[in-house]
Amino acid sequence: MSNNYQKGCARAAAGGKAAADCHILVVDDDRALRFLARKAFESEGFTVSEAGSGDEALATLAVMSIDCVLLDACMPGLSGFETAERIRTNTRLINVPIVMATGLDDEASIERAFIVGANDYVTKPINWQVLKKRMHSLIKQADVQARSGTANAEIDFILERGANTALILDGEGVIQSIDRYKPLPSSLDELLSLDACLFDCLPAESRPGALDAWRMGRRAESKGTFVMARPQGDRTFAAEVSFFKRESGDTLCLIRDFTDSYIAEQKIYTLANFDKVTGQVTSTLFVEQTAAALERDLVQKCETCICRIAVENYSALYDQLDRQGMQTVAKSIVQRIDMAFAEGCDWGLENQLQHPLIGRLSDHEFVVLLSAVKDPQLIESKVQTLAQGLLEPFTVNGYKVAVRTKVGFSGSAEGGHDAQTLIESARFACLEEPGNERGGLVRSFSPKVRERVAHRTQIEQLLRRDLERDRLHMHYQPKVSAQDLKLVGMEALIRWDNQEHGAISPAQFIPLAERVGLIEPLSEFVIDAVLNQSAEWINAGEVAVPVAINLPGSLLTRHGIVDALLQAISKRGLMPAQLEIEVTEGVMVERGSLAIAHLRQMREMGIRIAIDDFGTGYSSLSYLRDLPVDTLKIDRSFVSNLHQDNTALAIARAIVSVGHDIGLQVVAEGVENALQLARLREIGCDVIQGYYTGRPVSAEGFFDALNSTDVLGSAADIRACG
Ligand code: C2E
Ligand code: CA
Ligand code: CA
Repeated sequence: MSNNYQKGCARAAAGGKAAADCHILVVDDDRALRFLARKAFESEGFTVSEAGSGDEALATLAVMSIDCVLLDACMPGLSGFETAERIRTNTRLINVPIVMATGLDDEASIERAFIVGANDYVTKPINWQVLKKRMHSLIKQADVQARSGTANAEIDFILERGANTALILDGEGVIQSIDRYKPLPSSLDELLSLDACLFDCLPAESRPGALDAWRMGRRAESKGTFVMARPQGDRTFAAEVSFFKRESGDTLCLIRDFTDSYIAEQKIYTLANFDKVTGQVTSTLFVEQTAAALERDLVQKCETCICRIAVENYSALYDQLDRQGMQTVAKSIVQRIDMAFAEGCDWGLENQLQHPLIGRLSDHEFVVLLSAVKDPQLIESKVQTLAQGLLEPFTVNGYKVAVRTKVGFSGSAEGGHDAQTLIESARFACLEEPGNERGGLVRSFSPKVRERVAHRTQIEQLLRRDLERDRLHMHYQPKVSAQDLKLVGMEALIRWDNQEHGAISPAQFIPLAERVGLIEPLSEFVIDAVLNQSAEWINAGEVAVPVAINLPGSLLTRHGIVDALLQAISKRGLMPAQLEIEVTEGVMVERGSLAIAHLRQMREMGIRIAIDDFGTGYSSLSYLRDLPVDTLKIDRSFVSNLHQDNTALAIARAIVSVGHDIGLQVVAEGVENALQLARLREIGCDVIQGYYTGRPVSAEGFFDALNSTDVLGSAADIRACG
């Protein structure tokens, strides 16, 4: 027997009715059961009467004062349910506790027992020990109710609120009565015991909430509510507990089964705060946790750090792998983060470090919260390890995949003591150009980083705006034959004259456009502008030479690009041979790539293909043979050194010779003077492009400039030099 129970008995004996004064009516058609009941109850000191049927029970109740009825549900004649219903129609008997004994442990019978007015139920075979406890509790409760006069209005109030159980608590929170209206999940119900303080009964984690609600409820006119959850097997059950101050000064506590709402809320919480794929927290919760960590660390004089990992080639990977493949990538990234921080760190021990919290902010961004950091250098070295680990190829569906990531790091000392600011600082660090800061694979935040990134962001916004408003335009630079300086082609180069910043170099904004996803609209603008211009020149009867446009690799991998280009050409009545595409060596490196396949198709249709900046990248001359290429453009860096550097001359000569060997035309870029031109002619270069033979100029000025003294004049010089 529990101590609570003993205490309860003593108190009942002292304050309420003594057991000997309690009269129990046992109603059952089974004589053996009545006999057992009598033995059990009499041993407890109760007085016992028996009835063999419902009618007999009603007759006994009419003449005797009964404190509690044990009523068999299944009897011939009036069933227990019907008997209970009739008892309750008698106003004198409305509060007599009834315990329904059912052989049927099914929800429906139990539900029905409560509907007809039973206060509790037991299932057969009856556990007499348990039943005796319940009898005590019910009798005491009825007694308290009788004395404090629980009004019918209060019962209505309780029922209206859908309470499963109502408790009366005294000024100290001690449970005076337990009234069960509907069954509560047993893990919750078993917490309650009569004469114990409710707050002692509750699990420790629920206590603070319960006390707050209790205090709230004790104030007149207000209600205090809290929710507590308890596991039961592999499920969790929950109850909403509300407190109301009663006129008599004690407190009514209503407990309502809240499980369904609780589970729904938990589901919503999980969906909103945890990433489905990796199980890691998402943005809101991550920010909340960071804020909490910052607050703790400020007190403890520790640093809070954020590490941010962004997948750079996310969309390219998405095209290459399917959704499931991308999920594998995300899970692997989380695994690598876990591994990097797990090794050699005594989380929560010696260093008092909090275990890192991993968050997924979007499909391609991961963050790690590192709190209670006493030694930021140790953490930075861990972040380096992580960045190193991320360089390794990932295995997806049995294939090796290169996931390009950027890792940014920010500590609260420089990055800010506000959660959003600190996380944002790590993002700034991520956006920083490599090589700008201390080097290594990790970009660390500093106020300078913020400035640089902010400037870039501003340029990005301006570019976006000006692109939309058609504020960019094209310049054209002539390509001329090395031998007779006749115009053989031209290169279209984009120009941006920004109101706020003046002319901004494409060398600055093209890489930016690539990074922020503006390169596609920008390239579309270039293609349209150049093709319109070509058509205009042809219609005006100008010399029809191929015009070259620079296309980035990312555009070349786009599905449908070949058809789109061909359509754009034929729509204007142009021939494919009037267009040349310049791509950098990098695009040509991945054999079998989609970009090369597209270039091959374009070339088969008659579009010319040139490799730009040749010699600066992956120059393996031997691989050129298999590629869809017509022209090599020797990079400006070799041309500018031609007349003074023998190595540059040797490289230029090798490029021309291999190029010719496999039938390619060779163009020299950045030719600025007659000497360079002379050398290029010597080594057999075919075409010249540079300030010497013509600067990039607007379309309107192009033919005027060409026919003016510049080029013609230089032709005379060249003849002199040659
Ligand atoms: P690029 O394709 O190598 O273009 C040649 C660059 O060299 C141009 O710079 C041109 O103005 C410059 N140049 C030409 N002759 C000389 C010379 O004799 N001396 C010197 N010092 N420079 C010379 P620009 O126009 O500033 O363009 C820079 C880069 O921006 C281009 O290099 C190209 O990669 C990119 N770009 C320019 N326009 C476009 C475009 O429409 N689309 C794309 N995707 N990229 C473009
Ligand atoms: Ca070019
Ligand atoms: Ca170039």
